[in-house]
Amino acid sequence: MQRTIRLELHPTKEQADVLFQTLEQHTACFNAVAAHGWQEGIKNGVQLHKDTYSQLRERFPRLPSQLVCAARVKATEAVASALALTKGKKVSGPKSKNCPIRYDARSYRVLREEQLVSLATLAGRQKVAFGLYDHARKAMESALSFHSADVICRDGRWFLHLVVTLPEPVFESSGEVVGCDFGITRPAVASNNRFYGEKRWKNIERRYFKHKRALQSKGTKSARRHLKRLRRKVKRFRIDCDHVVSKRLVQNTSSGSVIVVENLTEIRQRMKARKGSALKRQMHQWSFARLRALMEYKAQAKGIVVVGVDPRHTSQACCHCGFKHRFNRKSQSLFHCRECGFELNADLNASRNIAQKYLAALGKSEGSGVASITLLSGSY
Ligand SMILES: [Zn+2]
Repeated sequence: MQRTIRLELHPTKEQADVLFQTLEQHTACFNAVAAHGWQEGIKNGVQLHKDTYSQLRERFPRLPSQLVCAARVKATEAVASALALTKGKKVSGPKSKNCPIRYDARSYRVLREEQLVSLATLAGRQKVAFGLYDHARKAMESALSFHSADVICRDGRWFLHLVVTLPEPVFESSGEVVGCDFGITRPAVASNNRFYGEKRWKNIERRYFKHKRALQSKGTKSARRHLKRLRRKVKRFRIDCDHVVSKRLVQNTSSGSVIVVENLTEIRQRMKARKGSALKRQMHQWSFARLRALMEYKAQAKGIVVVGVDPRHTSQACCHCGFKHRFNRKSQSLFHCRECGFELNADLNASRNIAQKYLAALGKSEGSGVASITLLSGSY
């Protein structure tokens, strides 16, 4: 499996200067190719290379040719996506102030033992020291191969985003099955009685929502600018929350377990059918797909499998006796069975149903547990 590891580079003062100049010239190349492609409406890489390469080599004789090409590749992508946006809209051409450099096998090398990375720069190859965060250290040690690497400068600090291939984790089933319900009241509830996400998130979301409404009703130019900033803020906040939920969930689940979640597209449909306040509608846009993707990503590394099941009736059925009724759900938070009187937190009840659904599917299908898992995970 491929993973991106983030390393912090620790260049010497001289190296930092060289790197900075390299980045500047690389960015200038990016902007030159992007401007040309944008003006002429060219998004073909070969054509852009023909049109710009020799000029750029003349203009930046010290910049390694691989980096000129790297800038052109990035600019080609940027032009193509900007051109795709232009349909009926006013879009400005792609431009960058600080374009990260994409290194590849010909322009960089990782010297793992020395804890150095050798980078092509204006002043030849520079061997730059790097620091490893704890979780990156393990990945670095077990990496089978290195792919591309982006050199990024943010607020005077240097980072390397390194794409590596890690050995495929082996899944050895422990037989443990954890159902997990994604929801609004709680971002995630697991059938082993664990609740994920914090109550204050809902308040933060409510505050953002009010702020958004206020800005929308103003409609001035500055309000629109603030709105744009707010949207980005909300997006970052939600990604952050999803990281926290998925991380804790995987931390609290042992290796060899199966995490069962509801099939996503259908969750959306079910959500739409439910009546709710404007805030709830707003929160429905919260990306379950992203949360699940983050879960799968983190689970895989720990030897945990995430599978999906059909979400129908998971919130209406009683996990105790199986009785299904629309009115079983007394409120958003409480489940009360009309048949056997069983009461439980509604999301917890749903999560247990989700786990049971998976187990029922396992029982019906033939073969060993692992084979069934493959079968199920391939079906969504
Ligand atoms: Zn019941």
